[in-house]
Amino acid sequence: PKARILVVGGGFGGAIAAKYLGMADPDLRVTLVEKEPVFISCPMSNEVLSGERDLKDLTFGYRGLTRQGIAVVQDEIVEIDPVQHFARGASGNRYNYDKLILSPGVGYRWDAIEGLSEAVSERYPHAWKAGPQTLTLRRQLEAMEDGGVFAIVAPPNPFRCPPGPYERAAQVAQYFKRHKPNSKILILDAKDAFSKQGLFQAGWKQHYGEMIEWVPAAGGGTVEAIHPDSGTLVGEVEEYRGDVISLIPHQKAGAIAERAGLTDATGWCPVDQQTFASSLHPDIHVIGDACIAGAMPKSGYSANSQGKVCAAAIVAAIHGNAPPEPSYVNTCYSLIAPDHGISVAGVYALDNGRIQEIAGAGGVSPMDADARYRAVEARFAHDWFRNITADMFT
Ligand code: FAD
Repeated sequence: PKARILVVGGGFGGAIAAKYLGMADPDLRVTLVEKEPVFISCPMSNEVLSGERDLKDLTFGYRGLTRQGIAVVQDEIVEIDPVQHFARGASGNRYNYDKLILSPGVGYRWDAIEGLSEAVSERYPHAWKAGPQTLTLRRQLEAMEDGGVFAIVAPPNPFRCPPGPYERAAQVAQYFKRHKPNSKILILDAKDAFSKQGLFQAGWKQHYGEMIEWVPAAGGGTVEAIHPDSGTLVGEVEEYRGDVISLIPHQKAGAIAERAGLTDATGWCPVDQQTFASSLHPDIHVIGDACIAGAMPKSGYSANSQGKVCAAAIVAAIHGNAPPEPSYVNTCYSLIAPDHGISVAGVYALDNGRIQEIAGAGGVSPMDADARYRAVEARFAHDWFRNITADMFT
C-alpha cells in the first residue's frame, strides 16, 4: 500500500513539505490539512501598515498544490493520536497517517503580560499572523491624530521573525513621515539587543530622524502589564501610553503542538534536527516556527528550508534509506524605506546533532553600503517574496 503522509498547516513549512514530498515520490499519498481557506503571508505584511501594499497581494490559494496531486482539505486538526497514528479535525473527519508533518506556526502566551488576553489583543493588535488584525492596525494608524504615539511591544526571544518588530517601526514611520510627521514611534522591548540592530538604527535615523525611539529591557522597556481601558503599558520603571498599540505577545509553539504532547518545558517542540522527527513522538515531524531548530531563526525561509530537509528524510525512511546529510539556509530581508533594504543570511549544517551556522557563509548587509546597494537589496526583498511564494503555491 502507498504510504500516507499527513501534513498539518499549509503555511511556509507545510505547503513546501507537501509539495516536495509529492515531487520526490509520486507514489506517496499526501494530504494537507489547513484550517483557513487561503493563506495570508506575514512576510511583506508590514508594507500593508505603510500603505505600500494591499493584503490581497499577500493572499494565496491552494489550487497549485491540488494540481500536483496533493489532497488539500480545509479543516482544523483538534486532536492527534500518536499511538494509533491518526488526527481528528473539528469537522469530525479522521485522518490516518503513516507519517505526520506538523507546521502550525506560533501560539501566544496570554498570561505573560498582566491584563492581556486574546480579546484585549483585538484592540491592541499584534498582527503577528497576517490577516484581519493587520487591517485593524492599519485603520487605527489611519485614524490616529498627527502628533500621536504608536507603541510597539516587542517580545523576548525566541519568537517568529526576529527583525519583524523593527521593520514594522520603519514601515509605520514611512507612513507617518508623509501623513503625520509630528507623531512618534516607541518600541518597548523585552530584550537588550535585536536582529540587524546597527543597520536598523542607522536606517531609522537616516530616513526618519528621531521619530523612532527604542527602549531596551535595561532601560525599562519590558512591559509587565497593560491597562486595556486607558491604553497604558506598565514597564518596570515607568508607565507608557500609546494612542495606537501593537502588543506582540510572548510566544510558544502553535496550540495543536502542545495539545498533541509534542512540546517540552520551553513551550517549543524538540526534534531530531537532521530529520525533524519529534523527540517525543518520532512518527510526527515538526517543522517551522514551532520546532527547536538549533541556530536557525524562526522565519518563513527557515520553515521552507526545513520543509525540504524533512520531506527528503521521510522519503528516505519510507524507502529504507538513511536520511541525507542536510544543508539549511535562511535569508531575512527587511524594508526600512521603499528604496532601502537590509538583510541577514545564514547557511547551516548539522554539527553534533545540532543545526549550527557555518562561519563565514552568511552575514548581514555592510554598514557602509551606498544608496544603490540599499536599493538593490530592497528589490531583492520583493524578488525573494515572489520566489518563495511561487515555490509554495504554484
Ligand atoms: P505559518 O506560515 O504560520 O503556517 C502555519 C499554518 O498552519 C497556518 O496557515 C495555520 O492556519 C495552520 N494551522 C495552525 N494550526 C492548525 C490546525 N490545528 N489545523 C489546521 N491548520 C492549522 N519570514 C521570512 O522568512 N521573511 C520575512 O520577510 C518575514 N517577515 C515577517 C513579517 C512579519 C510581520 C511576521 C509576523 C512574520 C514574518 N516572517 C518572515 C516569519 C514567517 O511568517 C514565519 O516564520 C513563517 O510563517 C513560519 O512558517 P510556519 O509554517 O511555521 O507557520
